[in-house]
Amino acid sequence: MITSLLIANRGEIACRIIRTAREMGIRTVAVYSDADAQALHVRQADEAVHIGPSPARESYLVGEKIIAAAQATGAEAIHPGYGFLSENAAFAQAVIDAGLIWVGPNPASITAMGLKDAAKKLMAEAGVPVTPGYMGENQDPAFLAERAAEIGYPVLIKAVAGGGGKGMRKVDAAPDFIDALASCQREAAASFGNDHVLIEKYILTPRHIEVQVFGDTHGNVVHLFERDCSLQRRHQKVIEEAPAPGMDKVTREALCAAAVRAAQAVDYVGAGTIEFIADASEGLRADRIWFMEMNTRLQVEHPVTEEITGVDLVEWQLRVASGEPIPLRQEELAIKGWAMEARLYAEDPAKGFLPSVGRLDYFSLPRLYRGKRFRVETGVQEGDAISPYYDPMIAKLVTWGEDRAAAIANLREMAEDVRCWPVKTNAGFLYLALSDNAFEVGKVDTGLIAREGEKLIPDAEAPEAVLQAVTHLVVDNSLGGGATDIRETWLKTDHGAWSNVGFRLNRTPASTMVRLEEGGLVYEIAFQDRSIDHCPWVERLGDGWVVTEHGVTRLFHEYRASGNAAGGASDGAILSPMPGKVITVEVAAGDTVTKGQKLLTLEAMKMEHSLTAPFDGVVAELNATAGAQVQVEALLVRIEAAAE
Ligand code: ADP
Ligand code: ADP
Ligand code: MG
Repeated sequence: MITSLLIANRGEIACRIIRTAREMGIRTVAVYSDADAQALHVRQADEAVHIGPSPARESYLVGEKIIAAAQATGAEAIHPGYGFLSENAAFAQAVIDAGLIWVGPNPASITAMGLKDAAKKLMAEAGVPVTPGYMGENQDPAFLAERAAEIGYPVLIKAVAGGGGKGMRKVDAAPDFIDALASCQREAAASFGNDHVLIEKYILTPRHIEVQVFGDTHGNVVHLFERDCSLQRRHQKVIEEAPAPGMDKVTREALCAAAVRAAQAVDYVGAGTIEFIADASEGLRADRIWFMEMNTRLQVEHPVTEEITGVDLVEWQLRVASGEPIPLRQEELAIKGWAMEARLYAEDPAKGFLPSVGRLDYFSLPRLYRGKRFRVETGVQEGDAISPYYDPMIAKLVTWGEDRAAAIANLREMAEDVRCWPVKTNAGFLYLALSDNAFEVGKVDTGLIAREGEKLIPDAEAPEAVLQAVTHLVVDNSLGGGATDIRETWLKTDHGAWSNVGFRLNRTPASTMVRLEEGGLVYEIAFQDRSIDHCPWVERLGDGWVVTEHGVTRLFHEYRASGNAAGGASDGAILSPMPGKVITVEVAAGDTVTKGQKLLTLEAMKMEHSLTAPFDGVVAELNATAGAQVQVEALLVRIEAAAE
């Protein structure tokens, strides 16, 4: 067995791998960039090596530095996690050439599955059904347009080197094809250094179903059943579950057998995922599920498989990399219950899901609650920062239940209980998505989030229960404390313990009005001495109050006519989420804007982000011009709420 392991990654996945390695008695070595000097994965590892500046291409993506770190610390093996160098065959080969153990498949398997067109051809030869389309060499636009017409619209143009949902264009009709092709090729060249594309039939009512496979060096390959990752936003997974809703035994057997064939075709060793796309217009049927691509690494959503099978996939990876056979035979694997995962992102749904960076001044994630199985995978704690340099995922919220309804209820509870300030998260959006009717009955497809649209975006205006909860505290505070007795509101007491005390006012001033300010909105609330039907979570933060309800955290200040109390962070301030370039500016100072209206487009980390107005108002400040480079957290636009 490996006795020491270097983890060539960061964030939650580095912490996840360290946890299992430690349980197995393996010494762990972390690597870190400047931005991550104080990061959790560095604090958790037995040793840590600095590998360079914050941008990934100068640190986490530099293979030589990582191999040198392994050699300097005497680490025997390297685990790449996901992302970064995990699917880089040249790096895998360099690790092996340096005499180290690569925790992953053979470089040849990575190469075989590396480009989507080559992988599809290989799979078709191995008898695995592949998404119909054109995957040849000829990249002449007119020729590709003919192929698209032959396949039949709608079609999907895909970068063969694509990943992470980038480099894809859906085209609905022939006249749009040439423009979409050019834009897809541009994005592919910029993001992946390869502008080759393939054309696929766009599958209607699409569901993303994938199968976890595992191979070892003794010629064994097993599958660990399927996951459904159909809940997506812009081709990126948001909520994943296992098993797939509506999957019957016969279809599952056919699908998982195809996945095993796919893995065997490339002599697969270690953990891998075969992704399929299903036409679910008439439920799941084996003859309407096609191979899409293979991810030759541990997948982000691997915990849902662990939860239904009881297997620790990282442990299996480390055993297999040490030369041991897979610990269980296919017949010994079974599905128990239902598991679900949500990706918690540092992003602001109210501002078009723009990434949100900064220090986590106030941060707490749901923990074990009344014996329910709540599992949190994260790489940050309160006081840490979300940096603009890396993926904005803060955590994965994972749960298990006896059945799907129980898993949804648990996960909704977890999303509800995410408390975070001033960094914005998608927890409120997750809560609403998990409460969605179509989702609850298992009618999921990849278009669900886009169809539901605004319904899944939490209101900018604070709900009554939240206002009342804060009002009680403000009144209490102004009376010198001890006047209220907060029955339904959770409070943190002086000695740091949580208590749920009553909600009564002993000395109620008659008709008390309280004026509150939150994110540029001013509220005037009549104090009501009554109990409320549910309990937002309220805490004092600085001279304000943070309140969390259904995953949305707000910071309130007592409003003083002279302006913002204590210069509280205002939601009307649109800050640049990362260093980037302004592409277009759609408004002028003084313009009246409506909620959701596009203000400007920013290009950052090779992605275009639309910045939108969080509420109706006026452009009070505008510091952006097209073409300008902007620093992280630069104030680009400030919206002042329209007068009531
Ligand atoms: P999966 O297919 O495993 O669900 P995705 O394709 O959604 O994963 O996301 C994996 C990709 O996301 C990686 O290839 C990488 O580009 C990016 N990514 C996400 N989180 C991280 C991280 N913590 N470190 C590095 N890359 C990450
Ligand atoms: P990536 O490498 O970015 O993960 P994939 O090929 O796995 O690219 O596709 C990402 C997502 O795009 C899928 O999960 C699915 O939602 C959608 N998609 C891909 N191919 C098709 C298709 N042929 N028809 C409909 N949707 C598709
Ligand atoms: Mg994919």
